[in-house]
Amino acid sequence: MANQISRRSLIGAAAVAPVAAKAQAQPGAKETAMPSSDKIGFAIVGLGKLSLNQLIPGLKVAKGAKLAAVVSGHPEKARRVAAENGLPADAVYGYDDYDRIAKDPRIQVVYIVLPNSMHAEHTIRAFKAGKHVLCEKPMATSIADAEAMIAAAKAAQRQLMIAYRCHYEPLNLDVMRRLRARSMGKVRQINTTMGRHADLSDPSDVWRVDGEMSGGGALADMGVYGVNAARYLLNEEPVAVRAWAQTDRSDPRFKETEDLINWQFRFPSGVIANGSTSFAYAATMAFEVICEQGRLVADPAAFYGGNRLTVIQNGPPQAPIPAPPSDQFAREMDWMADVVRGKAPMVSPGEEGLQDMRLMQAILESVAKDGATVKTDWGYRRAVDPAAVVDVARKA
Ligand code: NDP
Repeated sequence: MANQISRRSLIGAAAVAPVAAKAQAQPGAKETAMPSSDKIGFAIVGLGKLSLNQLIPGLKVAKGAKLAAVVSGHPEKARRVAAENGLPADAVYGYDDYDRIAKDPRIQVVYIVLPNSMHAEHTIRAFKAGKHVLCEKPMATSIADAEAMIAAAKAAQRQLMIAYRCHYEPLNLDVMRRLRARSMGKVRQINTTMGRHADLSDPSDVWRVDGEMSGGGALADMGVYGVNAARYLLNEEPVAVRAWAQTDRSDPRFKETEDLINWQFRFPSGVIANGSTSFAYAATMAFEVICEQGRLVADPAAFYGGNRLTVIQNGPPQAPIPAPPSDQFAREMDWMADVVRGKAPMVSPGEEGLQDMRLMQAILESVAKDGATVKTDWGYRRAVDPAAVVDVARKA
C-alpha cells in the first residue's frame, strides 16, 4: 500500500536497537554480565516476529537472563532457532508437550509471546508447571482471562509480570521523574497517539485485526501503550472515560475490529488525557505532556530505539534529547530475572495488565454508547511507581 507505514517499517525504524545494544551499556551500567550458570533461564513461547527479532537478541545482551528453551508449533523452525542459539535438542518444546517444562530445571521464567487470545491458557499452564511468567501485552483478551491469570499466579506462588517495556525504558523514566519533580508545575493535559497501518499481507497483522484473537484490533495492539502511558506518566488512575470510534467497514482490515478510536480520561488531579489509536494512520508512538509552565514532547516515545524528548519551557524548544541507547527488551527481562531472585520489586504485575484491560473495556463501552461517560474509579492503585525504583537502587 503506497504511502502507508506498516508495522515492519515501524520496527525497521528502530531495528538498530538490538544491534546497537551489543555495544551499549545495559541497566546499571557498571554491572557486568553474570556467569551463564547464574543467569535466570527463560523459555520463549511462540517464535514469531517479536521473539526472533527482539527477545532472543535481547537475551544475548542481558546481564542476568538467558535463553533456556523455545516452545513452538513449528518443530523445524524451533530446532533451527535452538541450534542457532546453542540450545540442546531437548530444550525444544511444542504446545502439546509444553507441560513437560515442569520437569525442566533449566527454565525458571516462561515468556508468553503468542497472539493475545493465547496468553491466558499458556500463562496458566506455565504456573501449573511451577514457573514464573512474563507475558506480552495486552495481557489477555478478556477481563475474566486476566483475572484467571492473576489467580493462577497466586495459587502457584509465582511471579506474573506483564511486558510493559516502557516501564524500564530510559526516556520514559526520565519523563516520569521530571513530572514527579514538578519542574514545570502541575500537569494539565496529556496527549497520547499510538498507531500505524495494519497490513494484511503480514500474517502477524492478520490475527491483530481478528476480534477474537486480538481482543480489540488497534486499541489492544497499539492503544494499550497510550492507556498505560497516561497512567504511568501521572502515577494516578482515571475516574471516567468517554470515547468515539471511526471505522470504515468497507476496508478489509476492519471487518471485526474498530480502526480509529479517540478517548478522554479524566483523572482525580484534574488532568485530562486524550488518547488516540488507529490501524490506518501513519506510524506514531508519541505523547505530549502539557504542564503549567512547559511541555514535554516524546516523539517517538515508544519505538524500539531512537526515542527522543523535546523540552519546551521559557522560549524556543531545546534540541530533542535522544534516549540513551539501550536494549529495552534486555532491560525488561533483566528486571524480571531480578524479581525472581528477590533483588528487585515487581513493577508491572498482572494487576497492571488487568487495569489496562478494564480501561480498554470501558473505552469500548463508551464507543458502543456513542461517547457516553463510563465511570472507571474502581479503586485500583499502582503498587510500585517505576520512577521510584527502576535504575534507582537494587540490592547487590
Ligand atoms: P507473531 O504473529 O509474529 O508471532 C506469534 C507467534 O505465535 C507465531 O509465530 C507462532 O509461533 C505462535 N502462534 C501459535 N499459534 C498461533 C496462531 N494460531 N496464529 C498465529 N501465531 C500463532 O506476533 P508477534 O511476535 O508480533 O506478537 C506476539 C505477542 O507479542 C503479541 O501479544 C503482541 O501484542 C506482543 N508484542 C509486543 C511488543 C512489545 O513491544 N512489547 C511488540 C510486538 C508484539 P510458532 O510458529 O513458533 O508456533
